[in-house]
Amino acid sequence: MTFAFEPAPRPVIAVEDGGEFPVRRIFCIGRNYADHVREMGGDPKADPPVFFSKPADSVVASGATIAYPQATSDFHHEGELVIALKSGGRNLSAAAAQEAIFGFAAGCDLTRRDLQAAAKKAGAPWDASKGFDQSAPIAPILRREAAGALLDKGRLKLSVNGEMRQDAPLSTMIWSAPEILMELSKLFELKAGDLVFTGTPAGVGPLRAGDRVTVEISALPTLQFSIGASI
Ligand code: MN
Repeated sequence: MTFAFEPAPRPVIAVEDGGEFPVRRIFCIGRNYADHVREMGGDPKADPPVFFSKPADSVVASGATIAYPQATSDFHHEGELVIALKSGGRNLSAAAAQEAIFGFAAGCDLTRRDLQAAAKKAGAPWDASKGFDQSAPIAPILRREAAGALLDKGRLKLSVNGEMRQDAPLSTMIWSAPEILMELSKLFELKAGDLVFTGTPAGVGPLRAGDRVTVEISALPTLQFSIGASI
């Protein structure tokens, strides 16, 4: 086969103990930490979760400087646990969902909040607010076997210039990692190479040029990136 032009390189994320994880698709779940819903006696699982996507080539390696994006004046951080898949399927059972997990990583679902607010108001798609260039910084992936009791005992912390902005136990997610995969596989056939952002806890906020962001999730490799000048 002859390509009409040179194909773009395959997006990859480093694996902690060596090698690279080839990225196929990036799925994300909407609001997934809602302690107050439970406090109020509501059922956080009354409705199925909301999913959206980012392009595979929006991934950025830890240590990068990410340009302040165009078309926004309210650029937000959302620190999140990311699930990396080594297999997939449709309508996964709980056991199959667990088995599909290759590993976990610390990520950040970068968001053009002003564009998202406008889209919500208009009932319009979220692509421009979520799926833009360099919107998915992800640290190296730790294999599932090395992650231990991460999902039960892990804690997510995001700081900007050393100041803590987000801090929550992973156990307070409404939909757990396997449950997210089970729900997602009712809508899409999941495959090896897929990444799933699992939602962000309270404390999201704006970033500015010159900011240095750190996302730490217990034993996972730390994600660090800086915000550069506007493009
Ligand atoms: Mn998010």
